[in-house]
Amino acid sequence: MEQLEALKRYFGYEEFRPLQKEIIEHVMNGQDALVLMPTGGGKSLCYQLPAVLKEGTTVVISPLISLMKDQVESLRSNGIVAYALNSSNDETEYFQILRDCRTRKTKILYLSPERLLGELDRLLKEIKISLFAVDEAHCISQWGHDFRPEYTRLYVIKEQFPDVPLLALTATADKITQQDIIQQLSLREPKIFLTSYDRPNLYLEVKRGYQKKDKDATVLHFIERHPNECGIIYCMSRKTTEQICSFLIRHGFNAAPYHAELSNQLRDKVQTDFINDRIQVVCATIAFGMGIDKSNVHWVIHYNLPKSIENYYQEIGRAGRDGMPCDTLLFYSVSDLIVLQKMANESGQAIMNMEKLARMRQYAEANICRRRILLSYFGETFDHDCQHCDVCKNPPQRFDGTILVQKALSAITRSEEQIGFRMLIDILRGSANKELYDKGYHQIKTYGAGRDISAKDWNDYLLQMLNMGFFEIAYNENNNLKVTEIGKRVLYGHEKAMLVVIQREESVKRTTRKSKTTTVQSLFKTEMPGREESDRLFEELRILRRQIAEEQSIPPYIVMNDKTLRLIANKRPMTLDEFAQIDGIGDYKKDKYGTRFLNVIKESTK
Ligand code: ADP
Ligand code: ZN
Repeated sequence: MEQLEALKRYFGYEEFRPLQKEIIEHVMNGQDALVLMPTGGGKSLCYQLPAVLKEGTTVVISPLISLMKDQVESLRSNGIVAYALNSSNDETEYFQILRDCRTRKTKILYLSPERLLGELDRLLKEIKISLFAVDEAHCISQWGHDFRPEYTRLYVIKEQFPDVPLLALTATADKITQQDIIQQLSLREPKIFLTSYDRPNLYLEVKRGYQKKDKDATVLHFIERHPNECGIIYCMSRKTTEQICSFLIRHGFNAAPYHAELSNQLRDKVQTDFINDRIQVVCATIAFGMGIDKSNVHWVIHYNLPKSIENYYQEIGRAGRDGMPCDTLLFYSVSDLIVLQKMANESGQAIMNMEKLARMRQYAEANICRRRILLSYFGETFDHDCQHCDVCKNPPQRFDGTILVQKALSAITRSEEQIGFRMLIDILRGSANKELYDKGYHQIKTYGAGRDISAKDWNDYLLQMLNMGFFEIAYNENNNLKVTEIGKRVLYGHEKAMLVVIQREESVKRTTRKSKTTTVQSLFKTEMPGREESDRLFEELRILRRQIAEEQSIPPYIVMNDKTLRLIANKRPMTLDEFAQIDGIGDYKKDKYGTRFLNVIKESTK
């Protein structure tokens, strides 16, 4: 069967993503390869399609039981016989797997590395293996960030099955890790397939200098703009996850916290509820997300600054695996920076972690295309602006801010450099705060000199001044602010200082908040006319999908992903043939669900 035909028949897709076709051809020719593709890039298809085309069983090594389960369910939902062998199987299952492998019915068998070693002289000797795939291959390397000792024994694959092609796949591997993978797995003349790290469907946005109240209002507004869409809010601490979560619940959202201090049972429940679309928002510490493949996470908010670009990119990468346009938002504030610097300094690897944090900070502060920064961080050249980040959308405009800078620096100097960010703002704004009075700061000349500017805007301007190096934070001295040499030049009028105009779009947006019907995700707007009608149908189709998912005890996104559901709502197929032409509908799904979906469409057109 032709590859493109098989792609449509088994997976329902019309065309290959970048490099998939080349990789599949390479593997079909019996050759080894290393594949580097970002999360959601479509790595699995590179072994799943050969698996259905080749005679025998494809054996996939995967480190996480939850990921195996997800993959197996999704293959079965396409009518492909697949199993996972790991510590969770019971005897009956094991015998069924053995039987179906021996009779060559099984196309794909997932194994944990331990299980692979255990089955080498048993099952694996009895069946015809068409291909080996090692998923998350970076786990083999101590250089990688997720080293797993079991992986280092995978050299046995080539030793025992020298003639079976081996495909290693990963989303993160620098040069050293790549070489390590090739060497340790003894890949034969491997070809390295490297696709871009870019995730063009993710919109990148940073908001700086927000205080808690503004953050919360922005979060609320953001989620209102994404009705019924699942998302994750990453927070630095357990306390914050709980606070923001109860805040959202108070506003009628279906949210749950997730952090290390919950019991395993509760954590599993939150994860399962999220996977099955029973919870819309998870407010999590970084512990959340590893090992879930949920394709319809459609936005990610970082309530606090992450500690490295790797972390940040991995976390926003959990959005939009289905290729739908997704919004991401990062809040950046000085208080986070202070906490993170302290943590980095006290970590075992202070120099490295401080450097990583510095890069993260540069990203958050940048006034150039954010995607350019990310991709260059990962060693890619990206020679144009993306037009899909906040900087590209609202290029910064500057103004002569010398007087503002002088007011701030003068207040710092006059208080003898004994104040931090918050007190500085209070002095500038002329606030009546007890500590301020006690220390006599209400008597200095600049007290109230910046009354005309809101605290929120001062926060932003001061961050800009900090970034431009006009003052620095003495972390070892109560985080007090110290004017630098460059700062002094501006303070004494030897130099001008240009600041970036603050753009606040919330005030505009907030006025539209009341009318729910108009707050659909802006990104869809251009694509489709008659949006409201297709929205209504989309909701009805979602209900049907949910029903089917419950009948079969699988997550809704495995029945059909959001993108496919959107296409059905827009195209409104009236016949099975039209239904089958939708991207994401293969033969199996057409036969299994077609009529039920058509009925819902027909009902809604009446
Ligand atoms: P990862 O690289 O993270 O392992 P997956 O293999 O899980 O990514 O693929 C991500 C999503 O993209 C899945 O929902 C998958 O079905 C979809 N996908 C893969 N290949 C294609 C394709 N050629 N056309 C459309 N969707 C695809
Ligand atoms: Zn950009």
